[in-house]
Amino acid sequence: MKYALVTGGSRGIGRSVCLELSKLGYPVIINYNSNDSAANETKLQIESSGGTAELLKFDVSDVNAVDNSLEKWSVEHPDSVIEVLINNAGIRKDNLMMFMQNAEWDIIMDIHLNGFFYVTRRLLKDMLTNRYGRIINVVSLSGLKGLPGQTNYSAAKAGIIGASKALAQEVGKRNITVNCVAPGFIRTEMISDIKEDDFKPMIPLSRFGKPEEVADLVAFLASKKASYITGQVISINGGLYT
Ligand code: NAP
Repeated sequence: MKYALVTGGSRGIGRSVCLELSKLGYPVIINYNSNDSAANETKLQIESSGGTAELLKFDVSDVNAVDNSLEKWSVEHPDSVIEVLINNAGIRKDNLMMFMQNAEWDIIMDIHLNGFFYVTRRLLKDMLTNRYGRIINVVSLSGLKGLPGQTNYSAAKAGIIGASKALAQEVGKRNITVNCVAPGFIRTEMISDIKEDDFKPMIPLSRFGKPEEVADLVAFLASKKASYITGQVISINGGLYT
């Protein structure tokens, strides 16, 4: 069996990505950190549309939890492989840099940048052995343009972009592609404190995006159709910035 793993698959963009990957025919592993009911709802939605899903709860920023959970999963699924990885888990901890606390900086680096590293490193070995893999990292407009109040988040996302470009060159020969998707404002709980009306005038398409719109792009990059795209950052932001 060939699986897809989505970190932060319980809610928001991650949930929509799980549903789209299921439509591609993948059994989906839904990772999340704490929200059991949201994760179960994602699983239920996949199953009620005829797909298969499993929950795998771990904190992507905890290297031991990542290694132990994925090792346990491998032992329990000896004939299966994870060939699609979507690094999507994330949070915000915004503050102006002059007021930013070490903890606010560190937690964003830990979840986004270190989380990407821990999960991807663990799954690369199997992808290299199988000579196939799709890695898609959900970054952000902030990682390209930088956004005030988000030096921590912008740095972490920009870090993932750099690592993705380097990794794409390391693993291309083994038919593994590594790409980033950079959303602008997408209507999820993560930005529930941001008023769409305040930002609409700046967005050429004059609205926030929907998680399903990001999921369609991620699913394309995860599909066999995207076989000659690697090392890229694809923006999906209503024309806000490219
Ligand atoms: P969301 O609705 O708040 O969902 C966040 C997801 O990440 C949840 O599934 C959450 O799990 C999971 N998560 C958080 N910390 C985790 C950890 N330490 N370990 C494992 N899972 C963890 O956020 P979203 O808007 O869908 O964001 C998804 C990704 O898109 C993030 O990387 C974000 O930076 C990026 N992004 C979002 C926007 C936007 O406008 N929404 C724009 C650009 C980029 P629980 O349910 O267990 O908490």
